[in-house]
Amino acid sequence: MTMSGPGARALRQFRQAWWDSEFVGSTSRGPHPQCDLSPMKQLLSFALLALATTTAAAQPAPKPAPPAPPVKQAPPAAQKASLTWFGHSAFRIETPSGKTILVDPWLTNPSNPKGKDDAAAVKADLILVTHGHSDHVGDSVQIAKRTKAKLVATFDLGAAIVTSGFPKEQYGMDTGGNTGGTLSLLDGEVSVTFVPAVHSSTVGEGAKTMAGGSPGGFVIAIKNGPTLYHTGDTDVFADMALVAKFSKIDVMLACIGGHFTMDPVRAAEAVRLVKPKQVVPMHYGTFPPLKGTPAELGASLKKAGAGAKLLQLEIGKPVSL
Ligand SMILES: [Zn+2]
Repeated sequence: MTMSGPGARALRQFRQAWWDSEFVGSTSRGPHPQCDLSPMKQLLSFALLALATTTAAAQPAPKPAPPAPPVKQAPPAAQKASLTWFGHSAFRIETPSGKTILVDPWLTNPSNPKGKDDAAAVKADLILVTHGHSDHVGDSVQIAKRTKAKLVATFDLGAAIVTSGFPKEQYGMDTGGNTGGTLSLLDGEVSVTFVPAVHSSTVGEGAKTMAGGSPGGFVIAIKNGPTLYHTGDTDVFADMALVAKFSKIDVMLACIGGHFTMDPVRAAEAVRLVKPKQVVPMHYGTFPPLKGTPAELGASLKKAGAGAKLLQLEIGKPVSL
C-alpha cells in the first residue's frame, strides 16, 4: 500500500531529514550540539574502538627479546713459573699450578739473611738434592718433616739421606731414580731427568759419613713453563753437550765459584755447550774460597761466544720465567 497525501509527504520529508543528519552530514547536528559526532557515529566509533581493543587483546603476546649473547671474558692469564734463589745452590721453583720444588735447599747458608725464617716457612712439594754434601742437603730434613715434601735423588744418595733423618715414607721408587732416568712428577706437570756431574758425594760428617752415590745435576721440564738445568757441583765436561741434544734449556743454573767447582771461565764453556737462553750464576761468594763472580762470568761468556743472557738473581726475590 502506498501512502499519499499531505501526511505521507510530511513523513517522507522527516525520514530524509533524519537520514541526512545521521549519514550525510547536514548542517543540523541533532540533539548533541556539544559533540562533533552524532549519536549514531559515536556508537559506530565506540564499536570500532571496542573491536580494535578486542582485536589487540587477541593478538599473541610479542615474543620476548632473545637473550643477549654472553659477554666473552678473556681467560685468566696463565700463571707463570717463578724462580727464587736463596743463595749458594738453593732454589725454589714455583710451577704454573702453584706447586713448589726446592733444589739443594740449604736456605740457612751464610749469604741468606732470612735463612732461618725461610727454612721455617717455605712451602715444598718436592725436594731435589744433587749430591750428599752438607751445603746441598742443607735443610732438607727439617723442611720435609714440616711440609711432607718428597725427596728426588739418585738411589744411593736418597738411601743415605733417609738414613740421616729424612722421613722414609717420603722417598721411594716414585721419586728416586738414577743417571739417565726421567721421572714424571706432580701429576705430570714436571719431568725431572738425572744427568751426570763431575764431582764427589758423601752424606754426613765425621764417623757418620756415608757414601752418597754419584753426584749429578737435574734437567727440570715444567709443563707450560720453562726447562731448567741445575748443574749441581761440577766441572765443565764435554758430555754437557748431550743435555742440549735431549732438551732445549731455557735457564741454566751454573756453579761459578771455582775451588770446588768450575770457575767463570770454565762455566762459560759449559754454557756454550748447553746453549741455554739464560744462565743464572750460583755457588759463589758463600765462603771466601768461592771467588768467581757474575761479572767475570759475563765477560767469559762473551769471550766464549756463548749467546746466553746473564740473569743475576737477588737472594729471596722471585723472578717470573
Ligand atoms: Zn757445593
